[in-house]
Amino acid sequence: MGIIPSSGVFSNSIRGWSLTIGKWVKKWSVPRSDGVGVWVVSLSDYQVWGCSCPVWKFHRQECKHILLIKNTPAAQQAGKIEYRPASPGNVGEVSIKGGVVLYPLVPFGSGPDLPATIIFDLIRAQVQPDEVSDYKRKFFRDTALRDIIAHVKIHGRFVYTEFQKDQGWVKPQLVSCDLPVKTI
Ligand SMILES: [Zn+2]
Repeated sequence: MGIIPSSGVFSNSIRGWSLTIGKWVKKWSVPRSDGVGVWVVSLSDYQVWGCSCPVWKFHRQECKHILLIKNTPAAQQAGKIEYRPASPGNVGEVSIKGGVVLYPLVPFGSGPDLPATIIFDLIRAQVQPDEVSDYKRKFFRDTALRDIIAHVKIHGRFVYTEFQKDQGWVKPQLVSCDLPVKTI
């Protein structure tokens, strides 16, 4: 991780068009959402952004990894992403509060949707991969992380939408995976 200066001039051909991007001058490692390895986001001296993921590589579209770096000024300056610590909190879904990631308690007898959603969101909230693995092991000992992610992507994210004084968090809903992690 960190800024890796690159000296090569990068040019590429897209459907017959030649595009000169310039020299990659900054690079960042972004953890893959499946938890396996990283994508490398790059910025060129012409201020063109690139990524090693298929969305950018094959479609030249601004992917979520580029957006993540663009939207994280601290990461841009340092050229790296800081991981956030996580702890249980009184929240209806994984929420970023200050520099900390809070996650809901899983009631006894819950199905797989809530813990799977929490794992999905902990990764998106840039929680240390080791911490995510420890959490995952508690609920899904023998299930691969990529299968948990796939489950959430297919079924949606399981979140509680309302807090009631006497009952705690209620009104669970399955919501889109595309919504950003909640900030409170
Ligand atoms: Zn990407």
